[in-house]
Amino acid sequence: MIIVLKDGADPGQVERLSEDLVEKGVKLYEIQGVSAKVIGVVGDTSLLSADVLMMNECVSKVLKVQEPYKLAGRRFNPESAVVDVNGAKIGGGEFAVMAGPCSVESEDQILSIAKDVKISGAKFLRGGAFKPRTSPYAFQGMGMEGLELLKMAREKTGLPIVTEIMSERHIDVFARDVDVIQVGARNMQNFNLLKAIGETGKTILLKRGLSSTINELLTAAEYALLRGESQVILCERGIRTFETATRNTLDLSAIPVLKEKSHLPVIADPSHGVGYWNYVSAMSLAAVAAGADGLIIEVHNCPDKALCDGAQSITPHLFEKLMKKIAKVREVITEE
Ligand code: PEP
Ligand code: MN
Repeated sequence: MIIVLKDGADPGQVERLSEDLVEKGVKLYEIQGVSAKVIGVVGDTSLLSADVLMMNECVSKVLKVQEPYKLAGRRFNPESAVVDVNGAKIGGGEFAVMAGPCSVESEDQILSIAKDVKISGAKFLRGGAFKPRTSPYAFQGMGMEGLELLKMAREKTGLPIVTEIMSERHIDVFARDVDVIQVGARNMQNFNLLKAIGETGKTILLKRGLSSTINELLTAAEYALLRGESQVILCERGIRTFETATRNTLDLSAIPVLKEKSHLPVIADPSHGVGYWNYVSAMSLAAVAAGADGLIIEVHNCPDKALCDGAQSITPHLFEKLMKKIAKVREVITEE
Protein backbone atom coordinates (compact mmCIF):
# COMPACT_ATOMS: atom_id res chain seq x y z
CA MET A 1 0.00 0.00 0.00
CA ILE A 2 1.17 3.52 -0.79
CA ILE A 3 0.01 6.59 1.10
CA VAL A 4 0.62 9.84 -0.78
CA LEU A 5 0.83 12.81 1.57
CA LYS A 6 -0.55 16.27 0.83
CA ASP A 7 1.90 18.99 -0.13
CA GLY A 8 2.93 20.76 3.06
CA ALA A 9 1.31 18.11 5.29
CA ASP A 10 1.61 18.88 9.00
CA PRO A 11 4.60 16.87 10.36
CA GLY A 12 2.79 16.25 13.67
CA GLN A 13 -0.15 14.65 11.87
CA VAL A 14 2.17 12.57 9.72
CA GLU A 15 3.94 11.34 12.82
CA ARG A 16 0.66 10.37 14.52
CA LEU A 17 -0.48 8.55 11.39
CA SER A 18 2.86 6.71 11.19
CA GLU A 19 2.61 5.65 14.84
CA ASP A 20 -0.93 4.33 14.29
CA LEU A 21 0.23 2.33 11.31
CA VAL A 22 3.25 0.84 13.07
CA GLU A 23 0.96 -0.21 15.92
CA LYS A 24 -1.00 -2.25 13.40
CA GLY A 25 2.14 -4.27 12.72
CA VAL A 26 3.19 -2.93 9.31
CA LYS A 27 6.60 -1.55 8.33
CA LEU A 28 6.88 1.96 6.86
CA TYR A 29 9.25 3.36 4.25
CA GLU A 30 9.28 7.09 3.69
CA ILE A 31 9.92 7.91 0.07
CA GLN A 32 10.39 11.34 -1.47
CA GLY A 33 8.60 10.91 -4.80
CA VAL A 34 9.03 13.12 -7.85
CA SER A 35 6.38 15.59 -6.71
CA ALA A 36 5.06 14.40 -3.35
CA LYS A 37 6.14 12.67 -0.19
CA VAL A 38 4.97 9.10 0.02
CA ILE A 39 4.76 6.46 2.76
CA GLY A 40 5.24 2.91 1.55
CA VAL A 41 3.45 0.39 3.78
CA VAL A 42 4.78 -3.17 3.79
CA GLY A 43 3.39 -6.20 5.58
CA ASP A 44 -0.15 -7.39 6.23
CA THR A 45 -2.23 -4.43 5.05
CA SER A 46 -5.53 -6.34 5.06
CA LEU A 47 -6.61 -4.56 8.24
CA LEU A 48 -6.04 -1.10 6.78
CA SER A 49 -8.93 0.62 5.08
CA ALA A 50 -8.18 3.20 2.39
CA ASP A 51 -11.36 5.09 3.31
CA VAL A 52 -10.36 5.35 6.96
CA LEU A 53 -6.83 6.43 6.03
CA MET A 54 -8.24 9.14 3.77
CA MET A 55 -9.89 10.67 6.84
CA ASN A 56 -6.44 11.85 7.94
CA GLU A 57 -6.02 15.45 6.91
CA CYS A 58 -2.42 14.93 5.79
CA VAL A 59 -3.32 12.17 3.30
CA SER A 60 -3.98 12.99 -0.35
CA LYS A 61 -4.26 9.49 -1.88
CA VAL A 62 -4.12 5.81 -0.88
CA LEU A 63 -3.06 3.28 -3.50
CA LYS A 64 -3.11 -0.50 -3.20
CA VAL A 65 -0.05 -2.23 -4.69
CA GLN A 66 -1.14 -5.38 -6.51
CA GLU A 67 2.32 -6.78 -7.23
CA PRO A 68 3.73 -9.37 -4.83
CA TYR A 69 6.87 -7.23 -4.51
CA LYS A 70 6.96 -3.73 -3.10
CA LEU A 71 10.49 -2.58 -2.26
CA ALA A 72 11.72 -3.97 -5.58
CA GLY A 73 8.90 -2.28 -7.50
CA ARG A 74 8.80 1.00 -9.35
CA ARG A 75 5.38 1.83 -7.90
CA PHE A 76 7.02 2.19 -4.52
CA ASN A 77 10.11 3.92 -5.91
CA PRO A 78 9.29 5.91 -9.03
CA GLU A 79 12.88 7.10 -9.44
CA SER A 80 15.50 4.72 -10.82
CA ALA A 81 18.02 3.62 -8.22
CA VAL A 82 21.64 4.51 -8.70
CA VAL A 83 23.77 1.87 -7.02
CA ASP A 84 27.07 3.30 -5.89
CA VAL A 85 29.87 0.90 -5.02
CA ASN A 86 32.82 2.94 -3.79
CA GLY A 87 32.21 5.47 -6.53
CA ALA A 88 31.47 2.96 -9.32
CA LYS A 89 27.87 3.74 -10.21
CA ILE A 90 25.23 1.78 -12.04
CA GLY A 91 21.55 2.53 -12.76
CA GLY A 92 19.57 5.72 -13.28
CA GLY A 93 21.52 6.65 -16.40
CA GLU A 94 24.87 5.40 -15.07
CA PHE A 95 26.18 2.55 -17.21
CA ALA A 96 28.75 0.00 -16.05
CA VAL A 97 30.43 -3.10 -17.42
CA MET A 98 31.65 -5.88 -15.13
CA ALA A 99 34.27 -8.04 -16.77
CA GLY A 100 36.71 -10.80 -15.91
CA PRO A 101 37.14 -14.55 -16.00
CA CYS A 102 34.47 -17.04 -15.02
CA SER A 103 36.88 -18.31 -12.35
CA VAL A 104 40.01 -17.02 -10.71
CA GLU A 105 42.73 -19.50 -11.68
CA SER A 106 46.06 -17.96 -10.68
CA GLU A 107 47.69 -14.71 -9.67
CA ASP A 108 49.05 -14.06 -13.17
CA GLN A 109 45.73 -14.82 -14.80
CA ILE A 110 43.55 -12.56 -12.66
CA LEU A 111 46.04 -9.67 -12.52
CA SER A 112 46.59 -9.68 -16.25
CA ILE A 113 42.86 -9.82 -17.08
CA ALA A 114 42.00 -7.20 -14.45
CA LYS A 115 44.52 -4.75 -15.92
CA ASP A 116 43.30 -5.34 -19.46
CA VAL A 117 39.59 -4.94 -18.73
CA LYS A 118 40.24 -1.81 -16.71
CA ILE A 119 42.13 -0.21 -19.60
CA SER A 120 39.18 -1.01 -21.88
CA GLY A 121 36.74 0.72 -19.53
CA ALA A 122 35.27 -1.98 -17.26
CA LYS A 123 34.11 -0.48 -13.95
CA PHE A 124 34.04 -3.76 -11.99
CA LEU A 125 36.15 -6.92 -11.99
CA ARG A 126 34.24 -10.19 -11.95
CA GLY A 127 35.76 -13.56 -11.04
CA GLY A 128 34.44 -16.67 -9.34
CA ALA A 129 36.24 -18.13 -6.33
CA PHE A 130 33.47 -20.54 -5.29
CA LYS A 131 31.95 -22.07 -8.41
CA PRO A 132 28.52 -23.71 -8.74
CA ARG A 133 29.49 -26.44 -11.22
CA THR A 134 26.91 -28.84 -12.62
CA SER A 135 29.33 -31.74 -12.21
CA PRO A 136 30.94 -32.40 -8.83
CA TYR A 137 34.06 -33.56 -10.72
CA ALA A 138 34.54 -30.21 -12.48
CA PHE A 139 36.87 -27.47 -11.12
CA GLN A 140 35.09 -26.02 -8.08
CA GLY A 141 37.05 -22.76 -7.86
CA MET A 142 40.02 -21.70 -5.75
CA GLY A 143 37.87 -20.83 -2.74
CA MET A 144 39.44 -18.54 -0.13
CA GLU A 145 42.69 -18.40 -2.09
CA GLY A 146 40.73 -17.09 -5.07
CA LEU A 147 39.19 -14.42 -2.89
CA GLU A 148 42.66 -13.30 -1.79
CA LEU A 149 43.75 -13.03 -5.42
CA LEU A 150 40.67 -10.95 -6.25
CA LYS A 151 41.56 -8.59 -3.39
CA MET A 152 45.06 -8.33 -4.79
CA ALA A 153 43.63 -7.46 -8.23
CA ARG A 154 41.41 -4.81 -6.64
CA GLU A 155 44.40 -3.35 -4.86
CA LYS A 156 46.39 -3.15 -8.11
CA THR A 157 43.60 -1.80 -10.35
CA GLY A 158 41.17 -0.05 -8.03
CA LEU A 159 38.30 -2.01 -9.60
CA PRO A 160 35.60 -3.15 -7.14
CA ILE A 161 35.21 -6.94 -7.14
CA VAL A 162 32.11 -9.00 -7.94
CA THR A 163 32.13 -12.63 -6.88
CA GLU A 164 29.61 -15.36 -6.18
CA ILE A 165 28.64 -16.58 -2.75
CA MET A 166 27.47 -20.18 -2.46
CA SER A 167 26.97 -20.67 1.23
CA GLU A 168 25.71 -18.76 4.24
CA ARG A 169 28.86 -19.96 6.00
CA HIS A 170 30.85 -17.39 4.02
CA ILE A 171 28.67 -14.34 4.72
CA ASP A 172 31.09 -12.70 7.15
CA VAL A 173 34.09 -13.10 4.88
CA PHE A 174 32.17 -11.80 1.87
CA ALA A 175 30.74 -8.87 3.84
CA ARG A 176 34.28 -7.92 4.81
CA ASP A 177 36.14 -8.54 1.57
CA VAL A 178 33.80 -8.35 -1.42
CA ASP A 179 32.29 -5.23 -3.01
CA VAL A 180 29.38 -6.81 -4.88
CA ILE A 181 28.09 -10.19 -3.70
CA GLN A 182 26.81 -12.24 -6.62
CA VAL A 183 23.92 -14.61 -6.02
CA GLY A 184 23.99 -17.01 -8.93
CA ALA A 185 21.14 -18.39 -10.99
CA ARG A 186 21.13 -21.61 -8.97
CA ASN A 187 20.71 -19.75 -5.70
CA MET A 188 18.23 -17.10 -6.82
CA GLN A 189 15.55 -18.62 -4.62
CA ASN A 190 17.80 -19.50 -1.70
CA PHE A 191 15.76 -17.20 0.51
CA ASN A 192 17.78 -17.72 3.68
CA LEU A 193 20.93 -16.76 1.82
CA LEU A 194 19.22 -13.65 0.41
CA LYS A 195 17.92 -12.61 3.83
CA ALA A 196 21.35 -13.05 5.37
CA ILE A 197 23.14 -11.04 2.66
CA GLY A 198 20.41 -8.37 2.88
CA GLU A 199 21.54 -7.74 6.43
CA THR A 200 25.15 -7.06 5.49
CA GLY A 201 24.42 -3.82 3.63
CA LYS A 202 26.48 -5.11 0.71
CA THR A 203 25.37 -4.61 -2.88
CA ILE A 204 23.90 -7.81 -4.31
CA LEU A 205 24.06 -8.88 -7.94
CA LEU A 206 21.03 -11.14 -8.25
CA LYS A 207 21.01 -13.38 -11.31
CA ARG A 208 17.77 -14.70 -12.73
CA GLY A 209 17.21 -18.40 -12.06
CA LEU A 210 17.54 -20.89 -14.90
CA SER A 211 13.77 -21.32 -15.15
CA SER A 212 12.51 -18.38 -13.14
CA THR A 213 9.91 -15.85 -14.18
CA ILE A 214 10.44 -12.12 -13.99
CA ASN A 215 8.03 -11.96 -11.03
CA GLU A 216 10.03 -14.64 -9.21
CA LEU A 217 13.23 -12.65 -9.76
CA LEU A 218 11.60 -9.55 -8.30
CA THR A 219 10.15 -11.34 -5.29
CA ALA A 220 13.58 -12.86 -4.66
CA ALA A 221 15.06 -9.33 -4.71
CA GLU A 222 12.33 -8.35 -2.24
CA TYR A 223 13.66 -10.88 0.29
CA ALA A 224 17.03 -9.15 0.32
CA LEU A 225 15.62 -5.61 0.25
CA LEU A 226 13.23 -6.28 3.14
CA ARG A 227 16.21 -6.41 5.47
CA GLY A 228 16.60 -2.75 4.64
CA GLU A 229 20.37 -2.59 4.28
CA SER A 230 21.45 -3.78 0.85
CA GLN A 231 21.01 -2.59 -2.69
CA VAL A 232 20.23 -5.02 -5.49
CA ILE A 233 21.28 -5.14 -9.14
CA LEU A 234 19.14 -7.48 -11.27
CA CYS A 235 20.72 -9.63 -13.95
CA GLU A 236 19.19 -11.38 -16.96
CA ARG A 237 21.54 -14.29 -17.74
CA GLY A 238 19.48 -16.46 -20.07
CA ILE A 239 16.77 -18.97 -19.32
CA ARG A 240 16.13 -22.60 -20.22
CA THR A 241 14.10 -23.04 -23.39
CA PHE A 242 13.76 -25.84 -25.96
CA GLU A 243 16.57 -24.27 -28.03
CA THR A 244 19.88 -26.15 -27.95
CA ALA A 245 21.94 -24.07 -30.40
CA THR A 246 22.87 -21.79 -27.51
CA ARG A 247 23.56 -22.66 -23.86
CA ASN A 248 20.51 -20.66 -22.73
CA THR A 249 18.15 -18.19 -24.37
CA LEU A 250 19.04 -14.63 -23.41
CA ASP A 251 15.64 -13.10 -22.69
CA LEU A 252 16.25 -9.62 -24.04
CA SER A 253 12.65 -8.61 -23.50
CA ALA A 254 13.17 -9.10 -19.76
CA ILE A 255 15.29 -5.94 -19.82
CA PRO A 256 12.57 -3.39 -20.72
CA VAL A 257 10.00 -5.37 -18.70
CA LEU A 258 12.18 -5.33 -15.58
CA LYS A 259 12.99 -1.67 -16.06
CA GLU A 260 9.30 -0.85 -16.21
CA LYS A 261 8.36 -2.96 -13.19
CA SER A 262 11.36 -2.10 -11.06
CA HIS A 263 13.52 0.91 -10.26
CA LEU A 264 16.55 -1.33 -9.66
CA PRO A 265 19.45 -1.40 -12.13
CA VAL A 266 19.16 -4.17 -14.72
CA ILE A 267 22.18 -5.74 -16.36
CA ALA A 268 22.59 -8.55 -18.87
CA ASP A 269 25.03 -11.45 -18.92
CA PRO A 270 25.45 -12.35 -22.60
CA SER A 271 28.21 -14.88 -21.80
CA HIS A 272 25.98 -17.32 -19.88
CA GLY A 273 23.06 -16.22 -22.04
CA VAL A 274 24.54 -17.73 -25.19
CA GLY A 275 27.43 -19.98 -24.08
CA TYR A 276 29.63 -19.31 -27.14
CA TRP A 277 32.17 -16.48 -27.41
CA ASN A 278 31.28 -15.71 -31.03
CA TYR A 279 27.73 -14.59 -30.10
CA VAL A 280 28.72 -12.55 -27.08
CA SER A 281 29.39 -9.25 -28.88
CA ALA A 282 26.10 -9.27 -30.79
CA MET A 283 24.06 -9.99 -27.68
CA SER A 284 25.99 -7.44 -25.61
CA LEU A 285 25.11 -4.73 -28.12
CA ALA A 286 21.51 -5.93 -28.30
CA ALA A 287 21.18 -5.81 -24.50
CA VAL A 288 22.57 -2.28 -24.43
CA ALA A 289 20.14 -1.26 -27.17
CA ALA A 290 17.31 -2.82 -25.12
CA GLY A 291 18.16 -0.42 -22.29
CA ALA A 292 20.39 -2.45 -19.96
CA ASP A 293 22.16 -0.41 -17.28
CA GLY A 294 25.20 -2.58 -17.67
CA LEU A 295 26.69 -5.90 -18.70
CA ILE A 296 28.65 -8.69 -17.05
CA ILE A 297 30.99 -10.32 -19.53
CA GLU A 298 33.41 -13.22 -19.19
CA VAL A 299 36.89 -12.29 -20.43
CA HIS A 300 39.85 -14.71 -20.39
CA ASN A 301 43.42 -14.17 -21.59
CA CYS A 302 43.62 -17.75 -22.80
CA PRO A 303 40.07 -19.07 -23.34
CA ASP A 304 41.19 -22.52 -24.66
CA LYS A 305 42.96 -23.18 -21.36
CA ALA A 306 40.23 -21.77 -19.09
CA LEU A 307 39.22 -24.07 -16.24
CA CYS A 308 35.61 -22.95 -16.54
CA ASP A 309 33.44 -21.48 -19.32
CA GLY A 310 36.28 -20.98 -21.81
CA ALA A 311 33.93 -21.52 -24.76
CA GLN A 312 31.94 -18.43 -23.86
CA SER A 313 34.86 -16.23 -22.83
CA ILE A 314 36.12 -13.46 -25.08
CA THR A 315 39.75 -12.33 -25.20
CA PRO A 316 40.85 -8.96 -23.79
CA HIS A 317 41.44 -7.82 -27.37
CA LEU A 318 37.87 -8.62 -28.43
CA PHE A 319 36.59 -7.04 -25.22
CA GLU A 320 38.42 -3.82 -26.09
CA LYS A 321 36.77 -3.77 -29.51
CA LEU A 322 33.37 -4.55 -28.02
CA MET A 323 33.62 -1.72 -25.46
CA LYS A 324 34.12 0.76 -28.30
CA LYS A 325 30.99 -0.50 -30.04
CA ILE A 326 29.04 -0.42 -26.77
CA ALA A 327 29.94 3.25 -26.36
CA LYS A 328 28.52 3.94 -29.82
CA VAL A 329 25.24 2.14 -29.11
CA ARG A 330 24.98 4.01 -25.80
CA GLU A 331 25.36 7.28 -27.65
CA VAL A 332 22.42 6.44 -29.88
CA ILE A 333 20.09 5.23 -27.18
CA THR A 334 20.79 8.06 -24.74
CA GLU A 335 20.18 10.72 -27.42
CA GLU A 336 17.28 12.98 -26.53
C1 PEP B 1 28.89 -17.11 -13.32
O1 PEP B 1 28.65 -15.89 -13.33
O2 PEP B 1 30.01 -17.59 -13.56
C2 PEP B 1 27.77 -18.04 -13.10
C3 PEP B 1 27.97 -19.26 -12.64
O3 PEP B 1 26.59 -17.52 -13.45
P1 PEP B 1 25.09 -18.12 -13.37
O4 PEP B 1 24.75 -18.20 -11.92
O5 PEP B 1 24.28 -17.09 -14.10
O6 PEP B 1 25.10 -19.45 -14.05
MN1 MN C 1 30.78 -18.68 -15.87
